[in-house]
Amino acid sequence: MNYKISQRAASLTPSLTLAIDSKAKQMKAEGHDVVGFGVGEPDFDTPQHIKDAAAKALAAGFTKYTPAAGIPELRQAIADKHQRENGLSYKPSQIIVSCGGKHSCYNVFMATCEVGDEVVIPAPYWLSYPEMVKLAGATPMIVETTDQTEFKITPAQLRAALTPRTRIFLLNSPSNPTGSVYTPEEIKALGDICVEKGVLIMSDEIYEHLLYDGAVHQSVASFSQKHCEHTILIHGFAKAWSMTGWRLGWTAAPEPIARAMDAIQSHSTSNPTSFAQKGGVVALTGPQDHLPQWLAEFNRRRTYAHQKLNSISGLSCVNAKGAFYLFPNISRTGLKSTEFCARLLETERVAAVPGIAFGADDYIRISYATSMANLEKGCERIEKFCQRLGQ
Ligand SMILES: *Cc1c(COP(=O)(O)O)cnc(C)c1O
Repeated sequence: MNYKISQRAASLTPSLTLAIDSKAKQMKAEGHDVVGFGVGEPDFDTPQHIKDAAAKALAAGFTKYTPAAGIPELRQAIADKHQRENGLSYKPSQIIVSCGGKHSCYNVFMATCEVGDEVVIPAPYWLSYPEMVKLAGATPMIVETTDQTEFKITPAQLRAALTPRTRIFLLNSPSNPTGSVYTPEEIKALGDICVEKGVLIMSDEIYEHLLYDGAVHQSVASFSQKHCEHTILIHGFAKAWSMTGWRLGWTAAPEPIARAMDAIQSHSTSNPTSFAQKGGVVALTGPQDHLPQWLAEFNRRRTYAHQKLNSISGLSCVNAKGAFYLFPNISRTGLKSTEFCARLLETERVAAVPGIAFGADDYIRISYATSMANLEKGCERIEKFCQRLGQ
């Protein structure tokens, strides 16, 4: 038998975050005391009232197919959220609910891109974006940024990256992996260029609610009707409601794009899980009082880790105003990120993700979605590791 693998699949780079994670899990299983800074999900449980709503729906037999784009009640709740929190007027028909924000991104590329199209992606980027662009047959155009600009792309860099083939500019603020947050002025400046050039903006706003130091989030869609017409907004329940395993995310998009995504979804996954959608409704319409507590705890850890990492000889770390990641610069250690992380795991039993996975080889990603005790233990081990390197 010839198990020929499609060019499409063969061209993908397997996820390095998952590889590190499985190595760390294996070491744990062998009895090693491993500190995990690799995970990209909150360490808090889904709020109880959301779990109750899904359990109730399940018990009541809400277990059948729903419309492929999601139940009307959820699409309405999402439209209401955008009106209330972002000042955006979407019709429920412009909202497509998918099996996670990742699936939303994938369907956007499938609905809008083809061979010859270019997607401009600022690095450091969420590692799935370029691979999803390739799956859609299009070409990722990477624009590098550094900690000198807090990992933010400048308007001049965006202009220089645009060509007549540019279909989408990808904006992710707050950012995974850097935690950077663009100011409203910075977002508007980038949005203005896309409007001027007729380029779509895919705005991944899944970390919208995870902000610190008084940072504010403003959706690029909110600056004018024109901005909204150029924006495909990605969001989901994974981060601010800690629902990663529920697989529930959404897209708010101009009607023709929403219709195309609905068609794609109707022939691939069909609807996201019926009773999970009922949980999603309550996540948006119910109390949000879990969030201030989570933010206070995340902020305490962020403050500690930022200060500790900066005190370590060989590292420097800009403070991030969002999400739950820090992205320290390791270039002064003389190691590239893969070797740094492999040796850190081997010798000190700390799992961090090499920046090369995100297109930035001089950095590593530290997720502080772990307990304060773990964070302290892990940071102290990183300090010891760097001290040995320096000797
Ligand atoms: C976590 C995440 C998502 C969505 O994750 P899902 O689990 O698929 O909902 C989307 N974008 C970024 C940048 C993320 O970090």
